[in-house]
Amino acid sequence: MRVDGNGRAPRLVIFDLDGTLYPREAYVDQVLGVIARMFVELRGVSQQEARAALAELRQAMRDDWDGTSATSFVLGHGFGIEQWRDYRHRHLSIADGLTADAVTVGELSRLRAHVPIALLTNNARAAALAVLARIGLGRDSFDALLAAEDVGDTPKPDVGAYAAVLAAAGVSAEYAWAVGDRYDIDVGPLRRLGGAGIVVSGPEELPSAVAWLLDGRSAPGDEVNEVPAFAGEVNGVSARDGEVNGVPARDGEANGAPARQ
Ligand SMILES: [Mg+2]
Repeated sequence: MRVDGNGRAPRLVIFDLDGTLYPREAYVDQVLGVIARMFVELRGVSQQEARAALAELRQAMRDDWDGTSATSFVLGHGFGIEQWRDYRHRHLSIADGLTADAVTVGELSRLRAHVPIALLTNNARAAALAVLARIGLGRDSFDALLAAEDVGDTPKPDVGAYAAVLAAAGVSAEYAWAVGDRYDIDVGPLRRLGGAGIVVSGPEELPSAVAWLLDGRSAPGDEVNEVPAFAGEVNGVSARDGEVNGVPARDGEANGAPARQ
């Protein structure tokens, strides 16, 4: 888990969906399967050749998750963007590979008891809702839900996507935190607007992320880049848990984050 704070307690937490609220492996396996099928169907290559090509993409995702795009891979192999979108729309159903996740449902609910939460995804709304339903979540699990249709031509990592969700929630960027599995796509844009964020490796780190957001608690191994403790909210008390990377940790004031309105 990597925390990039700005010294302010969250008044809105904006979650990514893919690879954040369900494991990226579920997404990767499905996407790779669909690409392999496309190679076979539209290119006429053998299953074996398709699998070999896909092994290259899988390895690139392992080596550099932030910098590897399935779409770029497909385009690099000569498919058109419309062709890929159409094929993906017809054959990709990430929800099929997912199962209920009581921990993720519980953690979001625990956080939402103190801070409003939003979902911001580049998925189409129907696909996102299908995925959420498998996990055990729904539209009502979030105070705001913005999907591809809601952000028009400014999907993440465009800051416009974040401006849209902030406007929907009525919260200014400096009091918003993003939680996602890719810094460049999920956290960086909100940081540029003045917000903060946490990069998680997947839903297994959501309990840690929620603990940080509520209490400023971090675990050994976490990377914490927090600018001095919550400005004006620390009551002059030094950190409860000692120091985090040499910067005073917060003292639990996040529990006093504004209740949902
Ligand atoms: Mg993601």
